[in-house]
Formats: sequence, C-alpha cells, structure tokens
Amino acid sequence: MGSYLDGGSIRAPRKCAAIIFYVSFCMARKHLRAVLFGPQGSGKGTQGRMLADYFGVPLIGAGELFRAEIQEKSALGKLVKSYVSRGALVPDELANAVMQKRLKAIHLDHGFLLDGYPRNVDQAESLDTIVKMNLALQIKISDVESLRRLLGRRQCMGCKAAFHAEDYPSTKPNVCDVCGQKVVQREDDNEEVIRARLAAYHFMTEPLASYYRQQGVLLAVKGEQPVPSLYEELVRKIRKLGFVPAKKSV
Ligand SMILES: [Zn+2]
Repeated sequence: MGSYLDGGSIRAPRKCAAIIFYVSFCMARKHLRAVLFGPQGSGKGTQGRMLADYFGVPLIGAGELFRAEIQEKSALGKLVKSYVSRGALVPDELANAVMQKRLKAIHLDHGFLLDGYPRNVDQAESLDTIVKMNLALQIKISDVESLRRLLGRRQCMGCKAAFHAEDYPSTKPNVCDVCGQKVVQREDDNEEVIRARLAAYHFMTEPLASYYRQQGVLLAVKGEQPVPSLYEELVRKIRKLGFVPAKKSV
C-alpha cells in the first residue's frame, strides 16, 4: 500500500484527470449538423462559406444537388427540369425526394452546413427523417435593407466582378475596376421581383424559425451589420454552444 507521499499515488490522480479531460474534450467535439436560412441579401451565402470552412464541415448547397440530379438525367432529374425550365417552383414532394436521395449518398456523420433547403416546414420535417439538425442559423434583415442591398447590386458584363452602388461602388461610375468593361444591374434585381421573393420568404421559409426553436436548435442573429462583424458574432455564438473549430495547421 502506498502512502500519500509515494510518488506513484501522486501521479495517478493526475493521469486520471488527464484522461477525464481528454474524454470530455472528445465528447465536446460535436460536429455541426446545421441548416442556414435568411432572406435574399442577408449575406447567408458568404457567411455559409466562411462558417463551413471555420468549423471544418462541407457546405452543401441544395441548388448544386438539384443541378446534379438534372445532369444525371434520372427520372427525378427530368421531373425537376420540367419545373425549373418553365420557371415554376419545384413541389415539396419532388424537392424532398431529390434531397432524400442525394443526402443519403453523402457521408453526413462528420457534420455539414446545408444552404437552400429546407425552404418550408414540410421540407424540414422530411429532412428530419434522414438526419436531425443540432443547429439552425437564421440571419435576419428587414425588407428595407434587403431591397437596398439587392437594388444596389452591380455586376461587370465582362469578368462578372461584383460591385454595389452605395456600399462598394466601382472607382469610375459603371466601369469595372478589374477589366474596364461596363458594370450593370442584373435584370432580375428589380423591385417587383425582389418584393415577390421576400413575400414568399416570409410566408414559406420564416416559419422554420419557430419549427427549429421548438426543437431547441435555433440561433437567430441580426444580419444588418458588416460581413466581418456578423461572421465574428456567429463564430462566437456557435462556439458558445459547444461546437469547436476544425483543427488548423498553424
Ligand atoms: Zn470586369
């Protein structure tokens, strides 16, 4: 029997503490299984890319999955194309079938950030049958700010460089800083189209907030702030929930 002064018995609790620390650290390493939603102009695309990179999870864009299905020319893909090609909304049953098929083919165990799906509560319920989210990110901006951001968007006709009439205009009016070609407003960036999309967002997509709040996974943030400060706030709040960044090779 070793006394308390015995070297071995002093080291043992330390080893034990180290193991407990290691185990709790590993258990704390939970992977993001997140969805991201917000109105057009909320900056969710940009934030999604940066957050996926920071937390080391793939960013899954629903649009890409739909395009892949169309390209594959599967029965589902052909059906999707028949709606998309005439500018119609893909019905929930079809959208859910495509996402079920595509997501089941992706290894989701190590986390992901999903953008562009679900767009309504029915779709969220369908998604829940494949994988349960542990975080739903909602970026909120007012309609006024959404309109201001989208109506100010300008794009170079040549190199497609992006500008904003108020926030980051080209040095010379309507002339691209990168290639010198003409900078224009995109055709679908008109007030009527944007207002219709915002109305659809409020009616269909926004109810996701209460759906995910009930599941206890909603994190809503105000998007009316510069990109870096919104990113900083999101990272801080997501980390506070116990998600840790990917190992950086620094
Ligand atoms: Zn250009």
